[in-house]
Amino acid sequence: MLERRRSTIRDLRRDNRSVLLSSLYFDQPCSRHDLSEATGLSPASVSNVIRELIRDGIAAEAGSVDSDGGRPRILLQINPDYGYVVGVDVGETRVLVELFDLMMTERGKADYPLDPRQHGPDVIVDAIVSGLDAVLSCAGVSPAEVLGVGVGVPGIVEHGPEVLVHGQTFGWESVPLQRLLQAGTPLPLHIDNGAKTMAQAELWFGAGRGAQHAVVCLIGSGVGASIITSRNTVRGLTSTAAEWGHTTVVVGGRPCRCGARGCLEAYVGAEAILDRFGQPLPGDDEESALAALIDLAATSEPAQQILAETALYVGVGIADLINLISPERIILGGWAGLLLGERMLPQIRAAAREHSLSHPFARTSIELGRLGPDAVGLGAATLPIEHFLNGTAQARDSGHAAS
Ligand SMILES: [Zn+2]
Repeated sequence: MLERRRSTIRDLRRDNRSVLLSSLYFDQPCSRHDLSEATGLSPASVSNVIRELIRDGIAAEAGSVDSDGGRPRILLQINPDYGYVVGVDVGETRVLVELFDLMMTERGKADYPLDPRQHGPDVIVDAIVSGLDAVLSCAGVSPAEVLGVGVGVPGIVEHGPEVLVHGQTFGWESVPLQRLLQAGTPLPLHIDNGAKTMAQAELWFGAGRGAQHAVVCLIGSGVGASIITSRNTVRGLTSTAAEWGHTTVVVGGRPCRCGARGCLEAYVGAEAILDRFGQPLPGDDEESALAALIDLAATSEPAQQILAETALYVGVGIADLINLISPERIILGGWAGLLLGERMLPQIRAAAREHSLSHPFARTSIELGRLGPDAVGLGAATLPIEHFLNGTAQARDSGHAAS
């Protein structure tokens, strides 16, 4: 009985610490008073936990601000050098490994171009392991100071008893990437879909900053979305939650690569847009072809019509998200989403308004992503940060930090 009570108290203390650490991380610099207001914890609890965090070298005092008539309030922030995180972007044409401090300032970078015909797991694993060695030795950071490594990969990541990656574009079926990587590095690893990690970066550091409930819509060649409630990504039973691209917008419509018909992706994915236009465009990849189509719309009626229809479908897809989830913010990203949005955000917003209920629509804002299409590495680095904030990751060499 006593033991149970003790462990309940321990859990409570850990929860308070994690709630406060997250609040400090996202709102820094801030005072003890701000933290108490933001978390609902009593001033005494906040003082206790902050004392612990300062003692452990995680938080530090950072100047002060005047308060209304009272004593100046001391500001607190996270110590950027308490520990480091690594973000890995496994892309079609390269593996990028980036080292960040806790403030997400980049401290090192290694880039490995990939032969487009060679995406075997051994090639990728070798590049990641070499990249980890390179960024750590270059920045003079020891492995013990690294809180964890996040890896963003294309395809579906199954978080079962073993982490498996199913990547159609790489020809990967059930690749045990975590086990393969762990043979080459002792660092804690977190693997997720690259688009999901990018969505998390956008939510934490980009257009989603400050939002508790948001949807990041990612349009590239294909279409996906990431739903975040209370700063946690919704994953669903099979880790494929928010397959927004495969919701139906036209019953019996265009065939989709998933095998169904009339999916959103079959209308607004870059591949589908170009296919619907059906005429040759300059450029040897989808990205330059879509940019050319958008330029062409100024002078070509058919190009303009395809884009107007695309804006309508994107808006309808967003309207469904608004009616289903009622998020406070919807962020349009992905390379094609950014290209379309820069040109047609007003039309997309108008279509979303027309097809959603006015009450939830009035509470939602629809915005463009701010981090650009290359934020996968930064996003991957948020995976170990998430564990750090939850209290499940610690720098093993914590002695260095308190000094
Ligand atoms: Zn589909």
